[in-house]
Amino acid sequence: MSTDSRAHLVSSDVRDHNLGLVLTTVDRLGGAARAEIALETGLARSAMSNLSAVLLESRLLRPAEEQPVARIGRRIERLELDGRHLAVVGAQLEVDEALVLAHDLGGRVLYREALQVRTAHGDAEAIATLIAERVTACLADLTARSITPISLDLVVPGMVTDGETVKYALDLGWIGVPFRELVASRVPAFPAGVHLGGDAPLAGYAEFTALREEPGLAGLTNMYYLKSATGIGGAVIMDGRLLTGSHGTLYAPGHVIVVPDGLLCACGRNGCLATVADPEVVLRNAGLSDFRDRKGLPAALEELIRRARAGEEVASAAVTEAMRWFRMLLDNTIFLYEPELIVLGGYLASFVDELSRLPQPTLEWLGCGNLRGPLAIQPARRGAFAAVHGAITLRRLELLAAPTRCGLLAVV
Ligand SMILES: [Zn+2]
Repeated sequence: MSTDSRAHLVSSDVRDHNLGLVLTTVDRLGGAARAEIALETGLARSAMSNLSAVLLESRLLRPAEEQPVARIGRRIERLELDGRHLAVVGAQLEVDEALVLAHDLGGRVLYREALQVRTAHGDAEAIATLIAERVTACLADLTARSITPISLDLVVPGMVTDGETVKYALDLGWIGVPFRELVASRVPAFPAGVHLGGDAPLAGYAEFTALREEPGLAGLTNMYYLKSATGIGGAVIMDGRLLTGSHGTLYAPGHVIVVPDGLLCACGRNGCLATVADPEVVLRNAGLSDFRDRKGLPAALEELIRRARAGEEVASAAVTEAMRWFRMLLDNTIFLYEPELIVLGGYLASFVDELSRLPQPTLEWLGCGNLRGPLAIQPARRGAFAAVHGAITLRRLELLAAPTRCGLLAVV
C-alpha cells in the first residue's frame, strides 16, 4: 500500500468516525442545531457544516419539523435524524409466539407483525422456515414503500455465545442449534448482515432505554436487570453500555454459585442459583409440575403468582424460598456493580415488594432521580417482546456510529 492510500485510509476512517459522532449525538439529543452538535462532539464548526451537508444529502439527517423561532438576521436550523428510507429488522421468537418488527434509522416503527408459532415443538427447521417467511413478507412491504432493509436481528429465548448458535433454549428443547444460518439461508441477503442474540441481555437494554425516557431518569447510566421466565437471565448496563464479556454471555446469574458443594447443575458445576431457584425448581416445590407439563411454563408461572397471592400454603412457601435466593443475588450484585436502578422481569416483576426487602446498607447504594432506596427496584415496563426492541436499538446505534463502513451513505 502506498503512503498516499494509507493516508487516505486513515483520513476516511476519521471522517466516518466523525460522521458517526454527529449522528449518534443528534440521536441522543433528539435533534439539535449545528452549534450545539459542535459543542457536544468537540468538532470544529467548519468541519461540522461539512459533515452535516454530507449527512443531509444522504438523507441521514433532515431539518427538524419544528424549528425554533428565528431571531432577526440569524437563522438557527435544528437538525434531526432522518433515515426513513432505511430499515433495521428484528424477529423475536418465544415459545409459541413471535414478533417481526422494523424501525427506521430514527427509531420510528415501520412494520410490526405478531404471530402464533404453531409448528411442532422444538422443530428448528420448521420454526426457521416460518420466521424466514414472515421476515420475507416484511421485506416485501418495506421494498414496496421504497425502504431498504439494512440488517436483521434474530432473538431467541435462550443463551447465544457466538452470534451463530443457540447454546441452550431449553423451553424450545434446543441445544446447539445453528439458528442464525437456518434463517439466513432462507431470506435475501442484508447489507449489514443477519445476527443472533439471546433474549435476556437485549430485554435488559430495552428496559434501560424505556426508563431513560421517563421524567427525571434521563441521567440513568448504570442499571441491572434480572429476569426469570425461561430460566434465569439478566443484563448489566454500565456507563450506558450493555456489558457483554469476552464470550457474549455476561450476565448469567443462573450460574452464580450460591450453595457450596450443592446439587450438580446442567452447566457441570455444583450449587448454581439455577439448582435452587430455576422456575422449574420453584414450580416443582409449589406442586405445579403436572400443571406445567399440561399447560406450559408461562401458564404455570401465572398460576404460581395467583396461588401465592391467594396465600395458598405450598405455593407461598415455594415463592418465599425462591425470593430468599434472589434477594441474596441482588444484594451481592448491588455491591459488585453499583447499579443506580434494578429492573425485575419475567415472573419476578410480580414480586417486587418481596425482592425490595434488602438490608438498609444495601438499599442506600441505590438511586436515580426521585427513585431511591427500595423505590429503585422496579418491575419491567416492556412486555414479552422487549428483547427485539433492544436488539434493533443496539443495531441502529451501531450503524449510526459508522455510517460509511456500514454502507448507509451509499443508499440514498
Ligand atoms: Zn450452573
